[in-house]
Amino acid sequence: MTRMVLYRQWRPRNFSEVVGQAAITRTLENAVKANRVSHAYLFAGPRGTGKTTVARVLARAVNCQARSGPDPCNECPTCRSALEGSSPDVVEIDAASHRGIDEMRDLRERVRFAPAISKSRVYVIDEVHMLTPEAFNALLKTLEEPPPHAIFILATTEPHRVPMTVLSRCQRFDFRRLPEPDIRKVVEIVSAAEGAEVTPGAVATLARRAEGSLRDGLGLLEQCLAYAGSRLDLDQVHEVLGMVEGEVLERLAHGLREGAARELLELVEEVVAGGKDVRQLVRDLMDYLREQLVAAVEGGGDGGWKPANLIRTMRELAQAEADMRWSPHPRLVLEMALLRLTPVSSMEVAAPPPPAETASPPVPGSAGDDRPAGDGPPVVQPQKTSDAGVDWPRILAAVRAANVPLHSFLRMAQPIQAGEGRLTLAFPAHAEVQMKRAAAQSPGILEQTLAEITGQQWEICFELDSKTPPRRPRKRSETSEPLVRQALTLFEGEVVEDDGGGGAT
Ligand SMILES: [Zn+2]
Repeated sequence: MTRMVLYRQWRPRNFSEVVGQAAITRTLENAVKANRVSHAYLFAGPRGTGKTTVARVLARAVNCQARSGPDPCNECPTCRSALEGSSPDVVEIDAASHRGIDEMRDLRERVRFAPAISKSRVYVIDEVHMLTPEAFNALLKTLEEPPPHAIFILATTEPHRVPMTVLSRCQRFDFRRLPEPDIRKVVEIVSAAEGAEVTPGAVATLARRAEGSLRDGLGLLEQCLAYAGSRLDLDQVHEVLGMVEGEVLERLAHGLREGAARELLELVEEVVAGGKDVRQLVRDLMDYLREQLVAAVEGGGDGGWKPANLIRTMRELAQAEADMRWSPHPRLVLEMALLRLTPVSSMEVAAPPPPAETASPPVPGSAGDDRPAGDGPPVVQPQKTSDAGVDWPRILAAVRAANVPLHSFLRMAQPIQAGEGRLTLAFPAHAEVQMKRAAAQSPGILEQTLAEITGQQWEICFELDSKTPPRRPRKRSETSEPLVRQALTLFEGEVVEDDGGGGAT
């Protein structure tokens, strides 16, 4: 609620101060001037676009004792009592909490009485779509025969939920989302009035983030000022809003431009590890790219992009953002989108197709039951390997949804044997730390996930694949290994199971 202070403080007090709804305020001004105010209005539109504000200005204007133009004087006793919220002739009802028939019946009774001190009594019913059908009926009766002194202003964010019968009784105004420049202007004015120094980049970002809602824009400004004090720059805005810092966005853009799959996946990892939301990452990235597109269109440099590529990239990201809303694995959706945007060649350079090193099919020696060093007979790569009962990529995905750190350890591993209720996971030699940390969490989420997916209980054996000694000459660093493998998994589908392909059944 502290976040509302600025918004309330700067709430327009007359029609001319209302931002971004010129068509509506002009019509209302004319109605007030001509004394032809209607008995029922419907104000429809997204939150924070000024519906309540305009309703209150209108309520004061019709009752103002000292009005000369369309605007209320805001000084006379009726204006003042309305501004203080103490006027008996401005009745605000929140339909979200008073949605029943009793309230509307009560309203119907009270409507008959003449206003206490003013010409008219104005009823502002906020979130009117929340009323029950019975309550709507009662309201409708009132609207059908309104006493001459009553004015109804119904406000709603969801006009489609208001019955036609009610709509048809109202003069309707559709409030639109405020354009960014309008919000920017108000943010600038309010910042200056608050004695705060806010950089243009910060202002622009706040305005964009407000998504058409002035209330949100000022709420965000307030939040940022509370954090940063009287000087606010873009980095601080990013910190407060939990957005991905510009630098990361720059690196992501660079990775996309250069088709650097590995770099992109590492950045995603970094962002996720930093506790950021991948959905937000996509939105921020799109904002960032959009700025580059605008700059390119305006001839201000193309940031190194070929326009066609930039557009394709944005289209792919927009699709990813949409897909993420429905996916339980938004990160996966993003990673796939990023990989689709990077030429395959860059991945081929990074990793030769079958990473046989870890998924070593018939690993001799690791076949033993639970002893990693066991020297069991040639592993039969039995019926029940990966394919049979264990869909490792799927399990990994499910683990990730439950526990990201555990997933980051487990994805280093490959299931090398599964059977008789026991699953053996092999970690590459360089991943001893990860193996130990995964093992330390066992039994736990992995076992539960396995049970849920396979319908049976598993005991997990963790072993280090000592036979994949150091590292084969590779063009990549060790840390990137899992990322690349993951990339391949995403790209190819089933690379992980290179062995199980033909087996089973
Ligand atoms: Zn007045």
